[in-house]
Amino acid sequence: MSRFMGARYSMFDAYTPGEQPQDRRYIKLNTNESPYPPSPKVRQALNADEVEALRLYPDPECGALRASMAAQLGLDENQLLCGNGSDELLSFAFMAWGSRGAAFADVTYGLYRVLADLHQVKVTNVPLRDGFALDDRDYLGLNRLIVIANPNAPTGMALKPRQLAYIAEQNPDGVVLVDEAYVDFGAESCLPLIGRYDNLCVVQTYSKSRSLAGARLGFAAGQAELIRDLKKIKNAINPYNVSRLTQRAGIAAMEDEDYYLLNARAIMQARDNTARALQAMGFEVLPSRANFLFARHAGIGGAALYMALKKRGVLVRHFGAERIKDYIRISVGSQEQMTAFLDAVREIMGGIKA
Ligand code: PMP
Repeated sequence: MSRFMGARYSMFDAYTPGEQPQDRRYIKLNTNESPYPPSPKVRQALNADEVEALRLYPDPECGALRASMAAQLGLDENQLLCGNGSDELLSFAFMAWGSRGAAFADVTYGLYRVLADLHQVKVTNVPLRDGFALDDRDYLGLNRLIVIANPNAPTGMALKPRQLAYIAEQNPDGVVLVDEAYVDFGAESCLPLIGRYDNLCVVQTYSKSRSLAGARLGFAAGQAELIRDLKKIKNAINPYNVSRLTQRAGIAAMEDEDYYLLNARAIMQARDNTARALQAMGFEVLPSRANFLFARHAGIGGAALYMALKKRGVLVRHFGAERIKDYIRISVGSQEQMTAFLDAVREIMGGIKA
């Protein structure tokens, strides 16, 4: 840190993204990307004409993209804001609604804490119950920004929309933000609840089930007043926040819903097969409704297993926080990738028993 950085930012810890190694080829199961390419329609859409048009700024309103999204989701266009990945929208949310503080789980997406610190939002830490269960009764009458990843990361465990509706009802003076980054892998979305709760905001991403992590596209959905708050911040920070190519890619992706549904189904199948295989080796695996598994084994620590896998060319994620340090998080790739992962785990565990 230089002597020029002011006190305002010098005290917070930045988020550490999962490794994006450029040196060698790994079986990359560490950042919850899709193992499948974007739809062929996306490839067609990003043509030479679109490259020509790059000399022009993109539509700051993402008009065509929002119109497609609105039609597909059954929402009004003014109930949607697009972001440069959902991370950007989360940042806007902390700025817009964090003035009374923010509450979120002790074990959840690490960026929430970073954003709270960055935007000087006071944090109420709400510990998950035993088995990493989120209990809606722990969120009554908080009346501040409440952020819940559903399914949660890195546990993969999901709540029912009625539980989130209950939390919204019990916090009329706070916004409840439901981060649905992983909702397409078997959980239920809260999008249908938006019309009923003026304090409910749902954020989704195109990075996971829609194979567009590299394009950076997410959206926030909520009643028009909430979306206006976010838009005001967006227009102050980065009015052209979603690139031309990304807007095109997003529209094309939406035209191929069936392709993505099939991919999601294959990922869920590979997830459940992998979970069973890990359990057969004595792993404890949390029940996941996401495109990753969170697992531990009494015979080896999380850090050691992460390292042993990395040595064998398989990259997973390990978090050092006390409550979860025994676990590794495994993104679910193709069935072939998962077979290679399981072979590596078998080799490692075989070595330990011997
Ligand atoms: N929310 C959660 C819970 C996540 O795990 C991630 C991925 N790191 C994101 C949001 C952000 O995704 P993106 O910015 O790629 O849309």
